[in-house]
Amino acid sequence: LMEFCGGHTHAIFRYGIQDLLPDSVQMIHGPGCPVCVLPVGRIDNAIALAKLPNVTLCSYGDMMRVPGSGKDTLLSVKAGGADVRMVYSCLDALRIAREQPDREGVFFAIGFETTTPPTALAIQTAIQEGLTNFTVFCNHVLTPSAISSILESPYVREYGTIPIDGFIGPAHVSTVIGSNPYAYFAEEYQRPVVIAGFEPLDVLQAILMLVRQVNSGRHEVENEYTRAVTATGNMKAQRLVAEIFELRKTFEWRGLGTIPYSALQIKAAYADFDAAERFGITYLSKPDPAGCECGAIIRGLKKPPDCALFGSACTPDSPVGSCMVSAEGACAAYYQYRSHT
Ligand code: SF4
Repeated sequence: LMEFCGGHTHAIFRYGIQDLLPDSVQMIHGPGCPVCVLPVGRIDNAIALAKLPNVTLCSYGDMMRVPGSGKDTLLSVKAGGADVRMVYSCLDALRIAREQPDREGVFFAIGFETTTPPTALAIQTAIQEGLTNFTVFCNHVLTPSAISSILESPYVREYGTIPIDGFIGPAHVSTVIGSNPYAYFAEEYQRPVVIAGFEPLDVLQAILMLVRQVNSGRHEVENEYTRAVTATGNMKAQRLVAEIFELRKTFEWRGLGTIPYSALQIKAAYADFDAAERFGITYLSKPDPAGCECGAIIRGLKKPPDCALFGSACTPDSPVGSCMVSAEGACAAYYQYRSHT
């Protein structure tokens, strides 16, 4: 069974859930960590933006520690004098732009459907306020495309696939998109999906629901997280996202390759708020750091201890790949909860 979301990966390790399961039930860690799936080339783009003389780049904290292709991180270029700010919300980025009208405020936007509505709200607010020095470097990605890709993408097949009998669907993402978008996936690929909360009992209950589906040959979408997730999700947030963003034709993911229609871009009508447009940013694909197995781990093909760098050259204090940086990354979870057992 694959838990898509890094939040579930951490719950599984933190509470020792794998140890409670029989050997016949194995948990595979999926790509649902927004920091982990961003490819090296996009980190390079953000570093290039941060080095522009008149730019203040605002980023979520984890992203600041992921190395680009030249070993620089946003944190290291900040130490070198670039104006990089860690923010907890894109509205903080908006505030910083408002407070510094003589500088360009750029928000490094990452994440799945959970973080997309706040970014849309920030752009909408900037429009309403007539703020002309605020732009977004948009890297928002979509969950259903990633799940489909794990099972069928030619890029993934090229590297090998693993048999997965069912998926634990993400919690926060599903509060926004609802449970309906998984119905096509369950039907088309004949795999059960159970949306689950992040508490240990949520995860255990979801595993039980998946096992029951597998044993009875069903492949349905079930919702364990009924206290927060509905069938249709948060329609207000969905409308806001649809107003500002549109599907991107292709997007490269770390580990999953280039997946069509798997990400969002800012609509042409709002190009004034698109950092890629304003600063002429073009994307160049770059390989993962030498020896790093993040790609295979994100695809569920390998586990962190399979990487030769795990716990030696690569630790949370000195990460080589993105999976060791993020609080939701599989390598960080293994290191934190398993490396000394
Ligand atoms: Fe990459 Fe470090 Fe994980 Fe190895 S341990 S896969 S180098 S992040």
